[in-house]
Amino acid sequence: MSDSLTDREIALRALSGVTRDNKTGCLISSKLDRKGRATVRYQAHGHTKRELAHRAIYRVLYRPLAANEELRRTCRDTRCVEPAHFALSTV
Ligand SMILES: [Zn+2]
Repeated sequence: MSDSLTDREIALRALSGVTRDNKTGCLISSKLDRKGRATVRYQAHGHTKRELAHRAIYRVLYRPLAANEELRRTCRDTRCVEPAHFALSTV
């Protein structure tokens, strides 16, 4: 028995309450950290975890990111969680 959300539920949470910017096509999250980055918070194994929202969404849509991979956004807006704006690069 677990209180943890599935990855899909985490991604849905990350996508809740977003606003579409019709000019840029960005999906703007209202849940930002102190640096202005879109984040998602959830319970996992009794602890509150916070993760960058675009990384959680990418994991559900495609696969987990490898340690040497960086997920950027073509729009360069750190509030954006629009998957079409995700750009994977190797560091
Ligand atoms: Zn964007």
